[in-house]
Amino acid sequence: MLEVRDLHACYGDSKALFGLSLRVPTGGGVALLGRNGAGKSTFLKALLNAGPQTTGSMLLQGHSLAGISTEARARMGLMLVPEDRRIFTNLTVRQNLELALHAAGGRIPHMTVEMVCDLFPLLKDLQERLGYQLSGGQQQLVAVARGLMASPKVLLLDEPAEGLAPKVAHDLALQVRRARERLQLTLLLAEQSIAYARQCAEYVYLLDSGNLVFEGDWAQFDAQPALKALYLAV
Ligand code: ATP
Repeated sequence: MLEVRDLHACYGDSKALFGLSLRVPTGGGVALLGRNGAGKSTFLKALLNAGPQTTGSMLLQGHSLAGISTEARARMGLMLVPEDRRIFTNLTVRQNLELALHAAGGRIPHMTVEMVCDLFPLLKDLQERLGYQLSGGQQQLVAVARGLMASPKVLLLDEPAEGLAPKVAHDLALQVRRARERLQLTLLLAEQSIAYARQCAEYVYLLDSGNLVFEGDWAQFDAQPALKALYLAV
């Protein structure tokens, strides 16, 4: 379980998050929804101690993350797949995946390239393809697969659907959902796309200007259509 209590975050004098509390149960899928600039990436970066200055408490399986470096948090099992994907375009898919294990810094590898390809069959035929030869959707799949290589306790996905055609995003969401089911993966997903988030997560937090304005399941979310219009529609 990942638990955040009363998290405030800022960049110098500029405040970005105002007292957020959120829980991701072990094996659960939670979506953090919000439009551009709402603070989703800041929240994920705060979890990794990778940018904003923070106060409040963050606990991973009961262990406080206070004072723990980004690298050590990654070793504890927090894995962020960032918004810009950042796969190595001059390396093959296989090399990108192998590099992820290396980056995990000596943790016992729980996933092999073969296991990940079994999980995401689309990757099987792409293993020797160079990063720049992949479509946006394929790159995002590699980024997600890479995030899984070190068997994270919590996978943090930052706007995986961004820039993808709806059909591609839909297919990717189904792959992520399948991976969740097969690995009993704990997922925290930052998204603007309700459709994507609905495929991958069962519980929703809605963020607006650094404040949480709603939390609940999809039925509760759907029962308040104004939420979408107020906080998500462009
Ligand atoms: P997006 O979809 O655009 O990434 P987001 O919901 O992830 O949106 P954040 O990127 O977390 O939002 O931004 C939250 C606020 O923090 C915004 O006002 C943004 O301008 C500000 N911000 C983000 N990164 C920095 C930074 N490095 N320095 C200063 N302010 C920042």
